[in-house]
Amino acid sequence: MRLCRFDDDRLGLIEGDYVRDVSAALEALPAPRWPLPPGDPLIANFERVRPAIAAAAARAPQRPLAAVRLKSPVANPNKLIGAPINYNDHVEESRKDQGIAHGREIKTIGDWGLFLKANSALVGPSEGVALRFIDRRNDHEAELAVIIGTGGSNIAERDAFAHIFGYAIGLDMTVRGTELPSFRKSIDSYAVLGPWLVTKDEIADPDALDFALWVNGELRQKSNTRHLVYGVARLIAYASSFYTLHPGDVIYTGTPAGVGPVKPGDVMRIEMQGIGAMEVAVRAA
Ligand code: MN
Repeated sequence: MRLCRFDDDRLGLIEGDYVRDVSAALEALPAPRWPLPPGDPLIANFERVRPAIAAAAARAPQRPLAAVRLKSPVANPNKLIGAPINYNDHVEESRKDQGIAHGREIKTIGDWGLFLKANSALVGPSEGVALRFIDRRNDHEAELAVIIGTGGSNIAERDAFAHIFGYAIGLDMTVRGTELPSFRKSIDSYAVLGPWLVTKDEIADPDALDFALWVNGELRQKSNTRHLVYGVARLIAYASSFYTLHPGDVIYTGTPAGVGPVKPGDVMRIEMQGIGAMEVAVRAA
């Protein structure tokens, strides 16, 4: 199943190049009450919503996907987790390029651990990326994004796949510099997620997906998730050994070599096997 959030926060079921508005299914969600439970309410209550989606889809007309504005398919994550230096070719380029390293010794993901991106940075492809500090280097990082379904703490690697809800394409935008990564990667709009989410049943092996990123038609990054240093299951186990994962948490799994700057007016395109493609425009904030 492919689900999107579009236009004025409508829930969409994607069928090929078309979307059906299944927002009526959101009536199955419990009424919000303070304090809100942690996690994305749609994903946390998905088993209640799933049959309502099917019923709503039977009544909803198809609309062309090209005619809707796609937002982040996860609306209310508890946290956005990032994996640094998780492809060896990106480790190598970071060691060679002071424009990335800024004097830091580039170690390993096991040394550095993970980082968090502010939830306020999250956008979908239609919203684009609004660059701040355009005198500095603002880089694209194309990544597989894993969306947690069932939360948990101290999840064993062998159990990790049972905790996945689905996948999307992630774009971990980064302003290079000397500040801590969580600060540099948390600017508004610097966490792109889209173009929709694909439930986990559609992807047999998330550690074997081809993907690539182009800027204005020029190929910049091309890899396969089989080259992840810490694969998907290990990332879930690693993250949950430090903090509880909640439904809708997003793990940006890391980026391969080829990171590079974008400027206002550029258009990034990312394609990922099993998910699809999204285009993201760059502008000045
Ligand atoms: Mn990254």
